[in-house]
Amino acid sequence: MALYQTAAGILDRLQQKEGAVKTLVYDSGYKNVRQLYALLCETLRYSTVIEEIIKSSELLRGPKKLPMNLAKVLVYDLLFGKGLQCGGRWKSTILAHRARLQAELAKLKVKKKVSNNQDLVTSMGGSLDGPALPRYVRVNTLKTSMDDVLTYFKRQGYTYLGKARSIKELIDFGQKSGKSFLQDLHIPNLLVFPPSTDFHKDSLYTAGHLILQDKASCLPALLLDPPVGSCVIDACAAPGNKTSHLAAIVQNKGKIFAFDLDTKRLATMSTLLLRAGVTCQELANQDFLTVSPCDPKYQKVSHILVDPSCSGSGMPDRMRVLTEESGSDQDERLQALSAFQRRAVSHALRFPSVQYVVYSTCSIHQQEDEDVVKDILEQHPDFRLVNVLPMWPARGLNTFPGSECCLRASLSETLTNGFFVALFQRRSPEEKSTSEEQKTASLHQVNEELEVDSSQVQSKRKYECISQNSVSCTKRKRKKKRKTDKD
Ligand code: SAM
Repeated sequence: MALYQTAAGILDRLQQKEGAVKTLVYDSGYKNVRQLYALLCETLRYSTVIEEIIKSSELLRGPKKLPMNLAKVLVYDLLFGKGLQCGGRWKSTILAHRARLQAELAKLKVKKKVSNNQDLVTSMGGSLDGPALPRYVRVNTLKTSMDDVLTYFKRQGYTYLGKARSIKELIDFGQKSGKSFLQDLHIPNLLVFPPSTDFHKDSLYTAGHLILQDKASCLPALLLDPPVGSCVIDACAAPGNKTSHLAAIVQNKGKIFAFDLDTKRLATMSTLLLRAGVTCQELANQDFLTVSPCDPKYQKVSHILVDPSCSGSGMPDRMRVLTEESGSDQDERLQALSAFQRRAVSHALRFPSVQYVVYSTCSIHQQEDEDVVKDILEQHPDFRLVNVLPMWPARGLNTFPGSECCLRASLSETLTNGFFVALFQRRSPEEKSTSEEQKTASLHQVNEELEVDSSQVQSKRKYECISQNSVSCTKRKRKKKRKTDKD
């Protein structure tokens, strides 16, 4: 029983935020550290499922009150683990409920339309802090068309409900789990299915016609939007979902140079790109920071996607939420990550012909998101932010002027994983000279009040409008000065 008592005690302390799992396991003095750690990690992974089963089986009712966290570790081992391994006074209570617990597990699987335990965990992942995450499916236009895919699913007995008009419609749709689907309202070629839909064995998926990709992770390539035939770098590319999206956007014409440090991930990427029909890529197992911007090979690179390693704090994982390091451990990790993220974006901005650089993370930490962008803008005055996808509801945290040009994503606001995206654009020579003038002016302390033009100038690019209207602002300033001189 010591195993379960100790594990339950650690779950209590985790809820009180007294430390990370590993620390608490070592501090517990329990002799078989590995066994205890494994039991805790798995119980946490199954936590939402176990809580549901405990509730519906009414296990905690009755004269002998079993504490919740003790019930959780016992139910885990009974239903999903190796079976109850030790005795103790609670063992008989749990075993007396065995049939009921097993029946509730079976009922839950039927309700969630899944056949195995792993799918049950995935399908209930979203219930941690909001609606369930739908199953997003990107139609790979390198291999098929939206029309063909719609026809295919209709033939499979699915009802096509058209294009969603709001995120609310997607949330309402997510509550149903029938055989129906929608087209997404923000991302072209993205379909939305009920959360528990499983496509891993679907023939269109295995043939690379469909890519299973979260909606938020489709944003970087969509916003970078390289023209057909352009030269693009994917700086931290593996396993390659964004590379294959970029390839679809450039229609396999032009070149995508894709770098990654991790050999194994790069090998997986190679297989995935082959399956997706990508042919315009050149993969390199190389540190992006060592790729020379002066190399003639990259002279035509006009668009760069930087999706570097991050804390992953936007990913829905109950275990990670509960086991996240606390205090200084986490600060140190975030500092190291954001230092790399700054270096990677800075490096991208040094490529001589680059016009657009998109930066993304699946982190919800300001240190990895807005703070990185703010520093980059200060260090690279030749670049400005583009106000992307104005209809997107969740914007960058208000931590510097223009931060609203960035996008944030979350389960509750956008029905996606937690995500962050910023798009940098090189200033035009005219804009550059006016911004230099502005700088000189402020250096000479010209104390003239600038009216800020709030009207946003429509850009020729599809998903953006110009954010910091320094050009029109300075033009008006000049006009005002000329008028004063005349008077
Ligand atoms: N963009 C990928 C996708 O959509 O499939 C996911 C990229 S993942 C968030 C970050 C990747 O950066 C990891 O595969 C990691 O190996 C790679 N990485 C980390 N440091 C790197 C570096 N200095 N140069 C190149 N790749 C790096």
